[in-house]
Amino acid sequence: MDGNGADVIIVGAGLAGLVAARETVRAGLRTILVDQEGPQDLGGQAWWSFGGLFLVDSPEQRRLGVRDSPELAWQDWRGSAGWDRLAPEADGAPGADAWAERWGRAYVDFAAGEKRSWLRESGIELTPVVGWAERGDLTAGGHGNSVPRFHIPWGTGTGVVGPFADAAAEAVAAGRAEIRHRHRCDGLLVEGGRVVGIRGSVLAEDRTPRGAASNRIVERDFELRADAVVVASGGIGGDHELVRRFWPDRLGTPPSRMVAGVPAYVDGRMLGIAEEAGARLVNRDRMWHYTEGVRNWAPVWPGHAIRILPGPSPLWLDALGRRLPPPALPGHDTLGTLRLLRTDPAIAGFDHSWFIVTHRIAAKEFALSGSEQNPDLTHRDRRLLLRTRLGRGAPGPVQAFIDRGADFVSATGAAELVARMNALTPDAPLDPAAVERVIRERDAELANPFSKDAQLHSIRNSRRYLGDRLTRTTAPHRLLDPAAGPLVAVRLHVLTRKSLGGIQTDLDSRVLDPRGAVIPGLYAAGEAAGFGGGGVHGYNALEGTFLGGCLFSGRAAGRAVAAEAR
Ligand SMILES: Cc1cc2nc3c(=O)[nH]c(=O)nc-3n(C[C@H](O)[C@H](O)[C@H](O)COP(=O)(O)OP(=O)(O)OC[C@H]3O[C@@H](n4cnc5c(N)ncnc54)[C@H](O)[C@@H]3O)c2cc1C
Repeated sequence: MDGNGADVIIVGAGLAGLVAARETVRAGLRTILVDQEGPQDLGGQAWWSFGGLFLVDSPEQRRLGVRDSPELAWQDWRGSAGWDRLAPEADGAPGADAWAERWGRAYVDFAAGEKRSWLRESGIELTPVVGWAERGDLTAGGHGNSVPRFHIPWGTGTGVVGPFADAAAEAVAAGRAEIRHRHRCDGLLVEGGRVVGIRGSVLAEDRTPRGAASNRIVERDFELRADAVVVASGGIGGDHELVRRFWPDRLGTPPSRMVAGVPAYVDGRMLGIAEEAGARLVNRDRMWHYTEGVRNWAPVWPGHAIRILPGPSPLWLDALGRRLPPPALPGHDTLGTLRLLRTDPAIAGFDHSWFIVTHRIAAKEFALSGSEQNPDLTHRDRRLLLRTRLGRGAPGPVQAFIDRGADFVSATGAAELVARMNALTPDAPLDPAAVERVIRERDAELANPFSKDAQLHSIRNSRRYLGDRLTRTTAPHRLLDPAAGPLVAVRLHVLTRKSLGGIQTDLDSRVLDPRGAVIPGLYAAGEAAGFGGGGVHGYNALEGTFLGGCLFSGRAAGRAVAAEAR
């Protein structure tokens, strides 16, 4: 296949684009994928991801004693989403959440139904591990997962995207598809109200390793024509200026310094390009950033940081050394915690908060989000998995952060620990006596089998779940217990990651204009489309729903393009 035409052009060879491509190739459509990065970056963010997948009422859950149901999942999803833009606009256009809510319902049904068998047919295998991510705001009808639903696949993110990358490679070898790397889309071609192709720049070859920022040297222009164009270009998390521009007032002020949870190519540029061509962008003020970012001691992309997926036990202090109040408990309420840190005038001037843990807690409860941080799962090394997850001591990557991470300090006693913390943040020195008092108050509650400490309730609840007790939650112990030591403090930063809003689409991933009409020839999928409908998550995510959102919306786009072509 060559030349400047195809049946379909897909902009972005991340997970959503690759999934859409598999569908269009299967339907016999000549498919061109274009991506601004080189072949080494095929698969986009998904390759780097932890791979967590949201599934409902799966055999893996049942085996661990979890009782889930589509009704419970929908209650959780709706309570988390909080869609409040459902009503039509004054000019009659659909509300910004009108399609988002429909996507949410469809996605929960998918996750409770066909998803697992489809994953398996696609070559994605699940481990027996089901994590309990985003436990929520401590209210039944509010945000959060009532039960564990975060399924980890073999291969982590590489195991999710691998089968689709392989399918693309096979299609290229068979002459049914083409991947044009270093092709950056700069505009959509619109004729008579229909999108008929793309134009852009061919960028100079760049052999930087996967994930590293590549050059933007333009060698020449290009133009490609097709009956359909799918935008699968990801979100905005790599461009902190864009993040700041759309940062909502309800989350206070953005930190003056954030760290990057995504490579630089997650630049959000294509969203503006789609808008210029007539697409409606909605819910851009909804984003999913984490408060537990740590700077990577071996960075790959600019400002590269890793999110700690914490178990329930770390003591969480703000920049003034005060314990965060519930529901700002570790692993509970991502945006609720971000809001707290950014809207309290006493601390909003600082960009950090603190975890204090024993080494025992760090060893068992710190999971690092990223394929490269979980070599046992990523390389499907079952022996290493048993050794690292069930054995004593911290997994190698966690210990490496404790030893080498710029945000980690260790000490045998509280006073010494606080002195080391203060050396990291001289502009926000903590009072050692006050920090020790907070630690002792928490430790004293351990002797009380009832306790009024919400975090201890959360820890005990977590241990009632077999999966957590085995792999993710230490038996409650005093932070000042020398046998569990040394003490470890971690300075946490706000880490940018996902965009929850984006291009508004209908259930066939067709792009809508500001009046709610379909733009012929234009489709959008994955993070660019707010994972479907311009905001399938609403305000809050239940985790593991982003990769799943790419699978579901990418598949819908590919199938709709194929149906239209018939
Ligand atoms: C470290 C990490 C851990 C994660 N863990 C999880 C997890 O456990 N579970 C989960 O559900 N999600 C997770 N995620 C999120 C998830 O991986 C992403 O949301 C998802 O992969 C986004 O896929 P996408 O295809 O929409 O976009 P991307 O992967 O961003 O791909 C978009 C592609 O489009 C290209 N592109 C952009 N603009 C242009 C243009 N103008 N012209 C040409 N090409 C362009 C980019 O180069 C890129 O290759 C994680 C993400 C990261 C980074």
